[in-house]
Amino acid sequence: MKITFPHMGDAYISVKVLLDELGLDYYMPPVGSHETMEIGIANSPEFMCLPFKKVLGDFINGLNNGADTILFGESGGQCRMSYYGDLMQDILRSMGYKFNYIHFNFSHLTYKEAARNLGPFLTGKSKLSVIKAAVNAGWTVFAVDKLYALSRKIRCREIKHGTTDKIMREFEQKAQTVHGFKNIHRALTEARKELKHVEIDKTFEPVKIALVGEIFISSDSFTNLEIEKKLGNMGAYVHNTMGVSEWIFKHFIKYMIPFNRRDKSIEAAQPYMHTDDIGGHGIYTIGNTELLSHGSYDGIIQIYPFTCMPEIIAQTTLGEIQRKNGVPVMTLILDEMTGETGYITRLEAFVDMLRFQKEQKYEEKNQKEPIKHPKLKHVS
Ligand code: SF4
Repeated sequence: MKITFPHMGDAYISVKVLLDELGLDYYMPPVGSHETMEIGIANSPEFMCLPFKKVLGDFINGLNNGADTILFGESGGQCRMSYYGDLMQDILRSMGYKFNYIHFNFSHLTYKEAARNLGPFLTGKSKLSVIKAAVNAGWTVFAVDKLYALSRKIRCREIKHGTTDKIMREFEQKAQTVHGFKNIHRALTEARKELKHVEIDKTFEPVKIALVGEIFISSDSFTNLEIEKKLGNMGAYVHNTMGVSEWIFKHFIKYMIPFNRRDKSIEAAQPYMHTDDIGGHGIYTIGNTELLSHGSYDGIIQIYPFTCMPEIIAQTTLGEIQRKNGVPVMTLILDEMTGETGYITRLEAFVDMLRFQKEQKYEEKNQKEPIKHPKLKHVS
C-alpha cells in the first residue's frame, strides 16, 4: 500500500511526520509545482475553485508515481467542498485510475472514526506507537505555524533584505527531504534559532495587516502567490488568521472537547450575518474582520479563490465593517489566470496607502503631544 496526499500550505510537514513515524510507505507530490497544478486544471470542471484543481493535480501526480491509496481530509460544511471527494473520485476513476480512497471529514471527526479510517494502516502497530506518532504530528502542526508567525515578525523588520526568506527557504527544503519527527524537530529548532539571530531594526514600526479569507488559499503560499512574503518584504507585518493549526484546532480539537465551544469570531459576525455558518470559513472572515478592525491593525486583506461562494457572501458585509470601524479592507480574488505583476501592484498600493494613513495619524497626534515620528519603511 503506497499512500499519497494533497498539499495545503505547510500541512505536508506534519503529514510526513505522521506517516514516517507510523513507518508507512508514501509518495508526496512536489510542493508548489506548476506542472502538477496544470494537470489539475486540465482535468477539472472549469468553474471549480482553485483548491479543487490543485488537490486534483496532486492526486494525479501521486497516482502517476506509484501511489495506490489517497488520503484526503476536508472540513465539509455548506460549500461545494462537501462533494469534492466524490467528484474527484469520479474524475480519477473515469481517467482509468484504480485506488483506495481514505477520506476524513474534519467537521465531524471523532477519535473512533479516525481510528476506523486509519485501521488498514495500523495493523501490527502498537497503540503506544500510534499515539506517539499522532502526538508528534499534532505538535509539528503548531510548531510549524509558530515558526512562520515568527518569520512574519522578523521579515518586515530585517536590516539585510532577504535574510528571513533565505532561512525559511532552507527550512522548507529540509522539511521536504528529511524523514521522521526527530529530523523535522531539529530543522524547526535550527530555523527558529537562526530567525532569532536576524538583525532587525527595533525602532521600525511596520504597518499591520490582518489576512482573512478562505483557508486553503490563505495558508497555501503557492496558490496565494506568497502574499505573506511579499507584504513582509514591503515592510508590512502580516497576521494570518487562517493557518493550518487554526484549521486543525477549529475542526478537530475543539470539536472533540465537550465544553467551551464558544467562538469569538462567530459571535462577532452575528450583527452582520445572523447565522453561525455560511459555508467554508466565510463566517470567520466576517468575525475576524470585525474583531481586528478596532485599532490593532492598520488594514485587512480578504483573500479567496474565484467562484468561492462563502467568501463572496462574506465580502458583502466587509464594506459595512469598513465604514463602521474605519479600517481599510481590500479583497483579492485569485485563480490560475492571476498575473503576478498586477497582484504586486495592488499589494504595494494598499501598503503605501496604509503607511500614508499611519503617518498622518502620527502627525495629528504629534500636534497634541510631542512623540517620536515612526520610522516607516518605503516600498522599493
Ligand atoms: S470554501 Fe470556497 S474555495 Fe474553499 S472549497 Fe468551498 S467554495 Fe471552494
